[in-house]
This record gives sequence, structure tokens and C-alpha cells, in this order.
Amino acid sequence: MDKIILTGDRPTGRLHVGHYVGSLRRRVELQNSGEYKKNFIMIADAQALTDNIENPEKVRQNIIEVALDYMACGLDPIKSTLFIQSQISELCELTFYYMDLVTVARLQRNPTVKSEIQMRNFEASIPVGFFTYPISQAADITAFKATTVPVGSDQLPMIEQTREIVHKFNTVYAPVLVEPAALVPKSEACQRLPGIDGKAKMSKSLGNCIYLADSADEVRTKIMSMYTDPLHLQVSDPGHLEGNTVFIYLDAFCRQEHFERYLPEYGSLDELKAHYQRGGLGDVKVKRFLINVMQEVLEPIRTRRKELEKDIPAVYEILKKGSEEARQAAAQTLSEVKTAMRINYFEDQELIRAQSARYE
Ligand code: ATP
Ligand code: MG
Repeated sequence: MDKIILTGDRPTGRLHVGHYVGSLRRRVELQNSGEYKKNFIMIADAQALTDNIENPEKVRQNIIEVALDYMACGLDPIKSTLFIQSQISELCELTFYYMDLVTVARLQRNPTVKSEIQMRNFEASIPVGFFTYPISQAADITAFKATTVPVGSDQLPMIEQTREIVHKFNTVYAPVLVEPAALVPKSEACQRLPGIDGKAKMSKSLGNCIYLADSADEVRTKIMSMYTDPLHLQVSDPGHLEGNTVFIYLDAFCRQEHFERYLPEYGSLDELKAHYQRGGLGDVKVKRFLINVMQEVLEPIRTRRKELEKDIPAVYEILKKGSEEARQAAAQTLSEVKTAMRINYFEDQELIRAQSARYE
């Protein structure tokens, strides 16, 4: 079976370093590996509208921001199909049919939806579209027959839900759909990077982000203000690593060669951690090291973004072409789905013949 990737992001803001370690970095590697027949990368504007109905302009404005961030990170429109969800109306049709395969109780059990409802204070006024977005996400994934979905760990319940829908569809109708597998980062820090406040996961909606497009100064200020260990008051105090955002970020970003370049007195991250735990290592020193590491990762992204910003119409053109290509792929799957569901009346000559025979 051909290996195919589908993944995407909601255009609710610029992309941040949590997206980078959770999914973007991996996508670029997979794209360049040559192992995948297709790489579909979707800007999920329709999904973003499910909880931004008061704010459609925000979604509209952020399409270009997400596209610029994608390409700045190395997603290449020649190797990957970059497209906008709302332009593929076939996705709505698939969603509608899949709704029959899922119970309300099952949706209510979805832990991601549960926590997102809480986070947004929806309580009794949950929009139906938001509540059912796992079904729409199943349509996004299956429309492209994706085998592989590179995501952060918050998305695992969505992939599970998709697999259930595929299984049910293929059992009830015909084996048309492909069961996808999630690809989450190996390191725990990357699966769910916390925000700079150290509280919840870094999330556009929570305003605790370091954005890929932040200037070097903004990155420096944000790292200096980062949450560390409230018990580590004096440099000589023993420090704690659990929940210490600076060390979690080092887990996510730091490589061996960074020590040679920026902190040669330590041989590895383990040595640095051990010193912090023993006491005698100040937060500021660790933060300065993290600043160097992150600037090295972010600088080339910022520079490429500046170049891309010079020709915005070209970026829209890329999205338009990508959307046309994505639409063809989705239309092919929809046609197979409708045939399997036997709602392809006018193409089914056998049906027309059999019905006429009844009236002869
Ligand atoms: P929103 O607050 O609007 O939901 P978000 O910041 O959660 O935005 P999404 O567009 O929902 O971003 O997520 C896009 C992808 O990035 C998903 O694969 C998700 O798992 C991943 N991702 C988002 N935030 C993080 C994070 N903090 N750490 C790791 N991966 C993340
Ligand atoms: Mg999210």
C-alpha cells in the first residue's frame, strides 16, 4: 500500500515552537525522506471556525500566516500539497455520512474534546460543529487515504476515533477506507510542549507561546521570563526538573553539538541536569544556554519567512493549486464511498435495469 501523509493546523494564530517539535519538524523530515507517495498538509479553517464563529476574520487572516510558517520551516510545495480545508467540499459530504457511524456517547467520551470544551468554557453552549469535529477530522484523514498522521499527543484520541470510523465503514459497506496510524514524537517533551508559563500545553488559544516568527528579542524576553522551579531561590539551592519548563525545552531542542558551541564546560544535558539538581547552577545560566539553542533553531526559519513575505500572491497561488489537487484526491475517495454506500444511483446501470424489470 502507498504511504500517504495527511496532517494540518488550525489557522487560529501563527505557528509556535510546540507545533514545530510536535509535528512540523517531523513533517519536513518525512517529506524529504522520499518514502511517502503524497504529503497532504491542510490549513484547517473550517475546523477553526467551529470555535471561532464570532471571529471569522481571525481565521481568514491567519491562513497566510500558517502558510508562511509552513514554508519557512521547510515544507516545500513541490513535494507537499498545501491546501485549505474549506475549499474541499467533499470533506463535508464525507463528514455527513460518517456521522451515522458514531454515537453521541462516544463523542462525549473523547478526552481531547472534553478538555477543549472545558478550556473554552463552552459548558452547555457547545456548538454542534465543535462537538463533532472528531468526525470531520476523520473525513480529512480518510479522504486522502492517509496511512500516517504526524501529530502531537493531544491528537491521539482523534486518530483512534478515525480508526473506529474506518473499521465500521469498511465492515458495514465495503473495504474502501484506510486505517491511519498516528506518528507522535519519541520524546515526551515534544509530544506536548508546555507553554512558557509552564501550565498547560503551549497553545495559540492560551497566549503562552513562543512563535516561529517572533524576533530574536522577543524570544530572549520570553525565555528569560519562563517558569522554572519555585523552590530554587538561591543558586546554591538544589533544583528540581519536574515541571521545570526550561529543562523541558532543552529536552525538546538541545542537541549534543550545542554544548560544544555554547556551554563547553558541560559534556551533555544529563551533566547539566545533575548539576542543577545538586545545587550551584543558576536559572539565568541555563536560560542563556536555552536562548542560544533556540535562536540557532529559529534564525533560519525567520530568515526564510522574511523572503517568502516579499511575494504574498505567490503563496496564495500555491494554496490555490494545492487545493485543486487535494480536491481531486478527495473526490475520488468520495466517489468510492458513495459506490460502497450504494448511493450512486445514476452510475448503477444494474439498479436501473432491475427496477425496470420489476415494472415490466
Ligand atoms: P488551538 O489552540 O487553536 O487549538 P493549537 O496551538 O492547539 O491551536 P492546533 O492547530 O490545534 O494548535 O494543532 C496543530 C498540531 O500541532 C497538532 O498536531 C497538535 O498535536 C500539534 N501541537 C499543538 N500544540 C502542541 C504542543 N504544545 N506540543 C506539541 N504538539 C502540539
Ligand atoms: Mg489545538
